Amino acid sequence: MKLIFLGAPGAGKGTHAKAVSEKLDIPTISTGNIIREAIKQETMAGLKARAFVEKGRLVPDGIVIEMLKERLSANDCENGYILDGFPRNTAQAEALDSMGVVIDRVLDLEVEDHVIEERLTGRRVCESCGASYHVVYNPSLKGDHCAECGGRLITRPDDAPEVVKDRLRVYHEQTEPLKGYYKALGKLFVAVGADEVSETTRRVFEALEAKAP
Ligand code: ADP
Ligand code: ZN
Repeated sequence: MKLIFLGAPGAGKGTHAKAVSEKLDIPTISTGNIIREAIKQETMAGLKARAFVEKGRLVPDGIVIEMLKERLSANDCENGYILDGFPRNTAQAEALDSMGVVIDRVLDLEVEDHVIEERLTGRRVCESCGASYHVVYNPSLKGDHCAECGGRLITRPDDAPEVVKDRLRVYHEQTEPLKGYYKALGKLFVAVGADEVSETTRRVFEALEAKAP
């Protein structure tokens, strides 16, 4: 099963992708995490990507597509995967097509902008494993440390309020048109985000199990 999770930054793609990933036993591939890791390791691609990420812009397609290709060639991708944060524009969707990747379903997670802004500015992420928390809505049981791995929880530089506004603008301009792209292929399934994480997870599974149109 090959899935794409589509939705604004902070819509909760990562959280719900994790639930689906565990149930279907396929990995979640987050280009955001891959890029942050490259920045941390100061690889050539990471050094090029850094300024774009910090400004809330998209990293140039060539760089991200190369990273993704490499990741998809790993053994654990044989039985499928969930793409979280890729594709983010039409050129990237076309790159997937030309790689011969056939996507089964695209899960569009709908959350309003004002909710996104509140979530992202309160988000804390684990420096070591990338797990995501929220100071109010989803605090870690271990306080400033990750409940899963004990890593330190930090605020991402791109979760600063001004940068969040830019990321949302980029989302609406460049990523949202992908809904039309996949809808035309009959692959788009929508889940509307709820206040409760568990309710949203239920809606995500419902959308993934729904009959195709
Ligand atoms: P979010 O979805 O919360 O914005 P991500 O972790 O998915 O966070 O991405 C963080 C940043 O990494 C993005 O703002 C962007 O700069 C970069 N990035 C991630 N995925 C892509 C992609 N597919 N194409 C271009 N840039 C990307
Ligand atoms: Zn962790």
